[in-house]
Amino acid sequence: MSRGCSLCHHPEIEEIRRELGEGKTYGRIARRYFCTREQVRYFAEHCMSEELKNQRFKVLRRRAEDQIVRAGRRIVKNLPPALSEDLLEALEGGGKPHGPHT
Ligand SMILES: [Zn+2]
Repeated sequence: MSRGCSLCHHPEIEEIRRELGEGKTYGRIARRYFCTREQVRYFAEHCMSEELKNQRFKVLRRRAEDQIVRAGRRIVKNLPPALSEDLLEALEGGGKPHGPHT
């Protein structure tokens, strides 16, 4: 527990810990447990165990990766077929995209 933290004594702190570990946002947790976003952030930064921080980080990173992949697919889908094929080849090979064939 840290000085200045008002959440360690929250009656539902175990639920708050669980939701932080599941990657719920500070704002969503604050609304649900009738506290402020700043209180949740303070708790997350000062009172969460390293294990829980790592768990939250992993979940958030996986979610960000999924969003990036989905965004990439949407972009590629909207490209003209020939160009998107070049791009996919470049991405798979890790090389630079080919210029347009002229
Ligand atoms: Zn605390």
